[in-house]
Amino acid sequence: MTSDDLQNETTDLLRELVRFNTVNPPGNERPAIEFLAGYLKDAGFETELLADDEDRPNLVADLGDGAPTLCYLGHVDTVLADPSEWTHGPWSGDVAEGFLWGRGALDMKSQVAAEAVAGATLARGGWRPRNGALKLVFVSDEETGGDVGAHWLTSQHPERTRCDMLLNEGAGDMFEWDGNRRYGVCCAEKGIFRFKLTARGVAGHASLPRTGENALLKLAPALQRIADAEPTFELTEAPAALLTAIGADPDDPAAALERIAAVEPKLLTLIEPMLGVTLTPTMAHASDKINVIPSRAYLKVDCRVPPGLGEEVARKRIADVLGDEADKLEIEFTERVTGNASPIESPLMDAIDHWVRTNDEGAGTVPVILPGFSDSRWFREAFPDCVAYGFFPQRHMTLLETAPLVHSANERIDVRDLGFAASCYTDLARDLLG
Ligand SMILES: [Zn+2]
Repeated sequence: MTSDDLQNETTDLLRELVRFNTVNPPGNERPAIEFLAGYLKDAGFETELLADDEDRPNLVADLGDGAPTLCYLGHVDTVLADPSEWTHGPWSGDVAEGFLWGRGALDMKSQVAAEAVAGATLARGGWRPRNGALKLVFVSDEETGGDVGAHWLTSQHPERTRCDMLLNEGAGDMFEWDGNRRYGVCCAEKGIFRFKLTARGVAGHASLPRTGENALLKLAPALQRIADAEPTFELTEAPAALLTAIGADPDDPAAALERIAAVEPKLLTLIEPMLGVTLTPTMAHASDKINVIPSRAYLKVDCRVPPGLGEEVARKRIADVLGDEADKLEIEFTERVTGNASPIESPLMDAIDHWVRTNDEGAGTVPVILPGFSDSRWFREAFPDCVAYGFFPQRHMTLLETAPLVHSANERIDVRDLGFAASCYTDLARDLLG
């Protein structure tokens, strides 16, 4: 199959996938998952659907058995979309101006399509792994945490999902640095330690502002301190290697950030959160009535912690930022998920780096971490020896172009990158499994 064929088939498959509305909640992923199962079965894969919720199954598709197992993972659910904000409808799958438009075109039906086309192309051509097995796993329910998706699947069916190497979402879109083309390989995800800050007061009538004790006003100084906080650093393996790769000193992250800001300020937004704990207030609630001074007010803060680190690091950061304001508020953690990581050196990393150098002359890879969450976390937890990376190579659309479109209106992908990614997954399977 030529690279044009790969691009055309991946484009066609992605159009079909975008047209299944899989906005989560509710997800309703079954039609999309069944469609993928049929596509892979026809190509020669053994397929099985495993479901906790019958409307939301997960697909496991195998080609060969034995070790090592290389797994291509993807989720078919998406976040919501408001059609009135889009140039081409979010479920249209329109191809226009060189892009395929639609919800999931980046996150991550595109990668699902490229992985499926790579697997199907190999299987239809008669290829079978000589050393190991190729596994494709397409899941439901990533966007709300994986309770019936990857989390459930890896904990309830470890024998069907166990793998040694995993490729998932998280990085791979090219960025330029000092004239060099770099492709991020995501080696870790940050943890989530969300918390609620509650202020107490005394209720009163809003027409008499000095009656009672307004709990909402007590949150103001805390909010201001969060807004004014300078970044702090808890450098883990991948971000340290990233700073080294771009010629900065990992022992002086503040200076590294200054340099990034001077060279490419837009990258700062993406790299700074990799280096430490972040606190982002997102929700607030006070009185239920406009004319009642609230006796209670709270703020919800989305706190992200570097991989491997836990609640004590989050608590220290909160104490540092809030200072004496912390004593006036109640702090309650509502979600605790510790992030995890894979080593930045491995045969899988070598294969990815080799592929990039071969297919984009002068380019190279750099390790990164995802400030957000992905299903890789569940696979690392279930299979501690599994090396899991996020890698979906995009060459024609850069990181600075794709990042603002994820979860946003007019999400779209350059169709040339669909062929680029599909050829990557085809080549990596051959390279790693023989
Ligand atoms: Zn995603």
